[in-house]
Amino acid sequence: MNSTLNELYQEVILDHNRKPRNYREIAEPTASSEGYNPLCGDLLHLYVKLDEIGVIEDVSFVGSGCAISKASASMLTTAVKGKTVPEARVMFDEFHRLVTGELDPESENHLGRLKVFAGVSEFPARVKCASLAWHTLNGALDGADRVSTE
Ligand code: ZN
Repeated sequence: MNSTLNELYQEVILDHNRKPRNYREIAEPTASSEGYNPLCGDLLHLYVKLDEIGVIEDVSFVGSGCAISKASASMLTTAVKGKTVPEARVMFDEFHRLVTGELDPESENHLGRLKVFAGVSEFPARVKCASLAWHTLNGALDGADRVSTE
């Protein structure tokens, strides 16, 4: 990973960990799920509100976990808000391939700022922390009450 991306990664993780975006419950969500990463102890609840045509109108989370899991959940909420469910599924797939090192961040993709998570691929133990919120979103959209990374 080049040093610019590394610096940006550190900055973004710190910022989102300190001030998580959309850190709240949604009273009447269209979908919600609980995600758990037993390897690290990250636990989060994710809430989604879809509008009548299937656009993610609101998305939020609450929970406790390490800085990476929290920052990733925070960034997920800002990234998928306003997207359709199929668009969010594409981002899930790309994000998952990014953190496992299968997707080149310089290739054409829909990740935007989420590309800073590319560095996680160098730390296999952190991949599940970074992808927990995404698995939880995917689970919520699939109607699963609970998602575990194990
Ligand atoms: Zn973690």
